[in-house]
Amino acid sequence: MTEIKVVGVIGAGQMGSGIAQVCAQAGYEVFLYDQQATAIARSIEKINKGIARSVEKGVITAETAATAVTLVKPAAMASELSTCDLVIEAATEDEEVKKAIFKSVSEHLKPEAILASNTSSISITRLATASDRPTRFIGLHFMNPVPIMKLVEIIRGIATETDTYEAAVRFAESLDKITANAQDYPAFIVNRILIPMINEAIYTLYEGVGTVEAIDTAMKLGANHPMGPLELGDFIGLDTVLAIMNVLYDGLSDSKYRPCPLLVKYVEAGWYGRKTGRGFYDYRGEKPVPTR
Ligand code: NAD
Repeated sequence: MTEIKVVGVIGAGQMGSGIAQVCAQAGYEVFLYDQQATAIARSIEKINKGIARSVEKGVITAETAATAVTLVKPAAMASELSTCDLVIEAATEDEEVKKAIFKSVSEHLKPEAILASNTSSISITRLATASDRPTRFIGLHFMNPVPIMKLVEIIRGIATETDTYEAAVRFAESLDKITANAQDYPAFIVNRILIPMINEAIYTLYEGVGTVEAIDTAMKLGANHPMGPLELGDFIGLDTVLAIMNVLYDGLSDSKYRPCPLLVKYVEAGWYGRKTGRGFYDYRGEKPVPTR
């Protein structure tokens, strides 16, 4: 039975930071790696703030928090992940980027270490082939924001062995998460349903059916969604939303998944949403203002 004590996280963006935080809060030692050194420093600052917030909310004690902040360590390069029992990749949603990571990290890992991807949409079976261990490879899809959202979708690739799957479920549960199994098809369960809805909201804007505010208000008050779909797209990252639509479109060969040209335009402009300061809303002022 695989025992996980040390966790590696590759990609210190919004998801990698959240994953590292919940792992540290659960007592795991965490090594955090990103190709950009500045991203690691920013992420550790964010994690420490997140841990403090967890104490304020009564999720963890001050004592647990004091330990948790010592457990997250920066890794200057992938070779520093050699002591990890589990490495979770949370880099940009791009198949080639992820494959290159799995190829290069594999050689540094213990033979029994498990490799996981937090991909929102890309085939786990295909990503696994870039590693040296398809049997020890699995999809662990956390939701954003990781410290708050309860679900982890678990996706087995075609070669994933049962011990790997069981270790992944136990690991997610040790983080106080609830798991749902999804088969390895484009975008799995949550994003197969959620992202086309966001894309449809963007079409609704593109075709002039409603303004940004009208669409978000309509879905919040009319469908009881906690966030409007355009606000949610900005929160996820419009680059990630577009990447997932492309995976659905290419993977299922159905025109109903074609990305809205307006989504493509925002991504071309580098207006990815909250993380870049501007998307369907402009976040640079005191409160978000619609950009059209
Ligand atoms: P992000 O843009 O905030 O962070 C991505 C990080 O990956 C960046 O810090 C970048 O420097 C780093 N990176 C890129 N290439 C790298 C490489 N070769 N080696 C190491 N680091 C590299 O993106 P995010 O929102 O955190 O998304 C990360 C992953 O999580 C994606 O696969 C995404 O689909 C998935 N995901 C995102 C959400 C969401 O709501 N944003 C939810 C669930 C899953």
